[in-house]
Amino acid sequence: MMKTINLLSIIALILSALAFLSPHSASASDNRISLEQVKADVSFLASDKLKGRANFSEGLMLAANYIAERFAESGLDPLPKLKNYKQTFALYQFKTDSQNIRLNNEIISEENTIVFSHHESLKWTEKNQLPLTYIDEKNDFKKELRQINLRGKDALVVVSESHKEIFQRYRNHFLTQKKRQKNSGPSAVVILSPQKTVKQFDINIQSTITKHSLTNIVGILPGKSKAREIVLFSAHYDHLGKSQASKQNQKPTPDTLNASSPVVHDNIYNGADDDASGTTAVINLAQYYATLNNNERTLMFVAFAGEEIGGLGSRFFSEQIDSDNIVAMLNIEMIGKPSRFGQGKIWMTGYKRSNLAKILNKNLVNEKIHPDPYTEQNLFYRSDNATLARVGVAAHSFSSSQIDIDPHYHQVSDEVKTLDLESMTIVINTLAKAAVSLVNGTDLPDRIDNEKVKPRGKLF
Ligand SMILES: [Zn+2]
Repeated sequence: MMKTINLLSIIALILSALAFLSPHSASASDNRISLEQVKADVSFLASDKLKGRANFSEGLMLAANYIAERFAESGLDPLPKLKNYKQTFALYQFKTDSQNIRLNNEIISEENTIVFSHHESLKWTEKNQLPLTYIDEKNDFKKELRQINLRGKDALVVVSESHKEIFQRYRNHFLTQKKRQKNSGPSAVVILSPQKTVKQFDINIQSTITKHSLTNIVGILPGKSKAREIVLFSAHYDHLGKSQASKQNQKPTPDTLNASSPVVHDNIYNGADDDASGTTAVINLAQYYATLNNNERTLMFVAFAGEEIGGLGSRFFSEQIDSDNIVAMLNIEMIGKPSRFGQGKIWMTGYKRSNLAKILNKNLVNEKIHPDPYTEQNLFYRSDNATLARVGVAAHSFSSSQIDIDPHYHQVSDEVKTLDLESMTIVINTLAKAAVSLVNGTDLPDRIDNEKVKPRGKLF
């Protein structure tokens, strides 16, 4: 005997068929960014082959080529005046030719000196009455140097030998972006020395300028109806290269956040989380939106170089573009592991500086983007978003890092095997969903009040 079909069940059947066909259900199942692709991209970018993606290195070039290839596969356009995705820019370095430095009676070698200056000849003695700053083992080297940079006055800085490794990093990479007027402006001389008080000094440094270059990778999906308005997705693809310390001196770290057995790593800073993870997000968001092919605004995808040495890539980028046209910047930094809010959960820097969080959260049903839980760490200023925020763009960084407790942050152990790729894939898909009303042009975020964004330093 046949089952009687009543009207209600027919309506229910039609409704469920409609639900299946509706765009809502299509977007609910839109996990288009796959774990396999995420894994392939992050594994290449963080592989030993790229030797830590140091600025000015062969490894960084390999990373650049890979990102460009992935952009090409997705069919992105280059910037209007460029023939490919590579936005290359020049940097100028003041390199010491010779130096004669004495602190009290200690003679200081070149490798224990960093010079921030645009003077070809620098001569100082205690008679110049320079302010002396001491960075001892209890001080935060980066933070102290940032203060000196913000002050922008002539300074002599004596640094405890406990900061040797980070000191070397600054020494090897210090560059100024623009060829400033020669022999003008303030200088700082930073010296690694065990001395606690310096009464007498004699400084004599002769330098010349050398030119270098770095490359941002930029790909574009032109907007269908609001092409002038740009939504920017970015991450930095450079990292720290190799550690100077030998393997014996590497500090052992646990293999994952929870594991108890410590392991010793090679000397490559793979930067899987920082920021191969964010770069992977940018590549995959580009592919995702290119496949959808329905963006009303122009989408711009950028992998910046030079972040780890002072945000140099984003600085150049921001000078080449009319920032008034950028409606939002989603800068993606360290999304490879579950955040303190859970697996696949995101937080955002500068949460209250614009209404971008409100817009993104409106587009999300079950998830929510959280405010930065580490405001004391000034993370808003520690990535490329700050450069664009300074010109008023609603520019924020998105992360899932547990930066306060993660043992791999800026360590040679930041490798793919410490990542949670599932969590990372959820984060990227969540960002894709969150940005929908930016991409389709229905929401326009407020500009950031750039009067409230701290200026960048005056020395470097
Ligand atoms: Zn970093």
